[in-house]
Amino acid sequence: MSDFDYGENMDSIPIHVRHAELTRANGPDRSVCPICRDGLLLTRRDGVTLELLAMDRCTRCAQSFIYDDVEEMRDKLRGV
Ligand SMILES: [Zn+2]
Repeated sequence: MSDFDYGENMDSIPIHVRHAELTRANGPDRSVCPICRDGLLLTRRDGVTLELLAMDRCTRCAQSFIYDDVEEMRDKLRGV
């Protein structure tokens, strides 16, 4: 189990990561949080355009992340 409490990293500055280099969880868009190793990064979309957002947040420790390869992720979803 994780040593991190829920929401512990809510106020931490965002960490730059590459989505392609994260450990996949139970789905192509889902990654294991590289900080607490217990929460998930589920990816988020804009509520209007449904475009994949660069910012994401762990479901457990609430650490925020910025996907430096978000453009590649969007291309993959478009089937480019
Ligand atoms: Zn986490």
